[in-house]
Amino acid sequence: MDAPKITEVVARAVNVPIEYPVRTSVGIVDTAPLVLIDMKTDAGVTGRSYLFTYTPIALAATLEMTRALGRLVTGQPLAPAAMDALFASRLRLVGKTGLAQMAASGLDMAAWDAWAQHLKQPLARVLGGELRPVPAYDSHSMDGIELGCRRAEGAARAGYRAIKTKIGYATLDEDIAVLRALKKAVGPEVRILADYNQGLTVPEAIRRIQALEGEDLGWIEEPTVQENLRGYAEIRSRTRVPVQMGENWLSADDMYRALEAGACELAMPDAMKIGGVTGWLKAAALAQTYGIPMSSHIFAEFSAHLLQVTPTAHYLERMVLADPVLASALKYEHGCAVPDDTPGVGIRWDEAAVARYAA
Ligand SMILES: [Mg+2]
Repeated sequence: MDAPKITEVVARAVNVPIEYPVRTSVGIVDTAPLVLIDMKTDAGVTGRSYLFTYTPIALAATLEMTRALGRLVTGQPLAPAAMDALFASRLRLVGKTGLAQMAASGLDMAAWDAWAQHLKQPLARVLGGELRPVPAYDSHSMDGIELGCRRAEGAARAGYRAIKTKIGYATLDEDIAVLRALKKAVGPEVRILADYNQGLTVPEAIRRIQALEGEDLGWIEEPTVQENLRGYAEIRSRTRVPVQMGENWLSADDMYRALEAGACELAMPDAMKIGGVTGWLKAAALAQTYGIPMSSHIFAEFSAHLLQVTPTAHYLERMVLADPVLASALKYEHGCAVPDDTPGVGIRWDEAAVARYAA
């Protein structure tokens, strides 16, 4: 039996509204600029995925890179591993990083989705996993006390056992006031996770995290710029709250360097940056080798399948991004993501919405 061939890759740009703007210590994301990918095959299935470019500034360039890499694989067999090798070779001199890596990862995800649909199985089963509910945390923003508590209470009522908030307010006292208000809102059973979005210098991170040691936080995420692995190791050696990072690793090699440097005790790769499904599997093996609990970063539709085959799976991040253009969204029940047994990962576009939000 011959493998299906890729017959066409269509990439489209949209800019969709976000219910709660993502406020961080380093800026606000108030719409979701997305590149929607359709990978058509001669087997009658179309693989789908999307990229989130964070800022509209990166949207056009990411779209064009996705189209260019899509043309490269048009006519090729639907074989994600071969595609990964082809991209690694063609991008060797520019670097398989940045927007090129994001585009390559999106095509990898679309290819795996198509492959699983071709086999008429959900992606998790194709990868050798089961389809179990995945514990999720509800991911919030730098929402202040009033909105923060409202969202936190809603998440606790919906059954989430953990929520994340973004901190890095002007003063440490404000960070503490928000964290204590949220804790009061959700009660003792719900874990609070806190994200500094790379906003602090190393000495300031040490000062603030030391002051937060009594707040029972599940983790402190990206306290300082993510490239500063030595700084992360320094922060870890002088504080006692688990340090989380990984959403900005642009390959499993990046992750390896961070783990070797002792930069974190928890890991949270992002499917779009780490290399799609293929890159995620390498990252999951590394996390197992280093004995590091591994969570996901956004891209919940794929992550709900990938965490089924992640030996040290920890949490799935629930942050709604692409829902306005999806015909049916990933379901959550009792604080867990619940992937269904649709072949692939189940991404279908709401074409009327795609037209409405076209960028
Ligand atoms: Mg983060």
